Parts: sequence; C-alpha cells; structure tokens
Amino acid sequence: HHPERSTVWVGPAEKQVPIGPETFTFIAGPCAVETPQQTLEAAEMAKAAGATLLRGGAFKPRTSPYAFQGLGVRGLEILADVREVTGLPVVTEVVDARDVAVVAEHADMLQIGTRNAANFGLLQAVGESGKPVLLKRGMTATIEEWLMAAEYIAQRGNLDVVMCERGIRTFEPATRNTLDISAVPVIQATSHLPVIVDPSHAAGRKDLVVPLSRAAIAVGADGIIVDVHPEPETALCDGPQALLGNDLRALATAVRQLPAAV
Ligand code: PEP
Repeated sequence: HHPERSTVWVGPAEKQVPIGPETFTFIAGPCAVETPQQTLEAAEMAKAAGATLLRGGAFKPRTSPYAFQGLGVRGLEILADVREVTGLPVVTEVVDARDVAVVAEHADMLQIGTRNAANFGLLQAVGESGKPVLLKRGMTATIEEWLMAAEYIAQRGNLDVVMCERGIRTFEPATRNTLDISAVPVIQATSHLPVIVDPSHAAGRKDLVVPLSRAAIAVGADGIIVDVHPEPETALCDGPQALLGNDLRALATAVRQLPAAV
C-alpha cells in the first residue's frame, strides 16, 4: 500500500545521506574494523572515491568460530571516531539482539547480515531501534522470504529499510555466491523499499567487483556497498575481495559516469 518508491535517509539531521530512487548511493569501507589507523585509511580511500557512507564490521559473523570475530564495542568506538574525522555516517552489522542498543548508540544505520536474515528476534529488535536498517538477503532466501524479513522490521514500526542483494548460494563455485541481479528490478516492482547491491560479498573476488558494480548501476540499483582496505593482503577478513588503487579508481569512474549513461 505504498505507491511510490521510498527514500531512506541515513545520518544526523544536518548531513543526512539519501538512499532511494533520486540518487545512486556509494557505500564503502573495510570488511572488518581492525585498528583505528586501518579504519581511517580505508574511510579516506572510500571518501576520495566518492563514497558518502562508511561501512565497517565491528561484530563479524564468521563461518568459522576460529576466524577473527571483530573488535566488538571497541570497533564501534573506532567507527564513531572515524565518522568524526571524515564526516561519513556509519553502517555496521549487529548480530545479536542484546547488542542492538549499543550498536544504535554508535552507528547511523544497522546492518543485518545474510546469516541473520531469518533471525526474527533480531529483526524485531532492529525494528524497534529507531535507526535505518540495511537488510542483506539471506544466502538461501527467496525474494519473498527476504521481503518477509523486511516485514518483521516494518511490523515493529520501522519503515526505514534498505534491501541489499549480496549473492545467493547456487551450484556455481567460480564465485563465492551468485549475484542475483534480477532481484533488483523484482524488488523494485514488488516493494517501495530501496535496493542496493554488494558486489564484494557476492563475488568474493576483487576482479569482479567493478563489473558487478556496473551491472548494479545498469539494472537500476539505488546504490552499492563495497569493501576497501589499505592493505588487502594483511586484512583479517575477506582481503581477496577488497579494493584499492586502480580498482577503486575504476569503480569511482563507473559510479560517476554510468548512471547518466543508462
Ligand atoms: C558484511 O557485509 O560484512 C558481511 C559479512 O556481509 P554478508 O552478511 O552479506 O556476508
């Protein structure tokens, strides 16, 4: 019952960033917050490339319990400090309903990751947080299940939900996940919510991030969210998909030029 596509506004009143049909929003930052220096350098790279929102994981939902799990609250503090320096509002993941308050205290937008996209208690908790939510698609979720996950948030009074297509699990091993690019126009035809694409987590490989970003732009996505890292080879999380240097410049060019061309 919402005839027009919505815009979700992120950040403090005086410098809110829109995500919606009137603009193309570029979100970038490190997969994980590791140190203040690494986070600041990644944020500055992101900003120089044209990003208007900073991403970064403080609570990391890793497949292996032995992998780096993130810095937790210390990571949130680093993100808040880097926001002060760069002016970029922050989106970061929350993995446990008990952490929603502390994440909402430090961040401008709460991310629900693919592994928690059917964690209904967590979806309800972010629905009561008062902050906009970036809702990743569950890696095995149908589009209808993904939309129902958004309903769990909306039902608690929070309509500021941005959908994020981040690849689904298929039989194809050449990429970490298969980017379901058709999900973008399907969501736009079915729902008023903005929809963005995460080419980094879809591909798991930096060489595919620019081509998949071009695809996202061409298909009419409302934005992209991309991993960048000042030293991908030493990254504690997902280094192979992080951009820097020429790749990031190529992405910045595509983001600047393509929307006008399509
Ligand atoms: C992330 O964006 O840091 C992340 C872990 O993404 P996903 O939940 O899509 O795997």
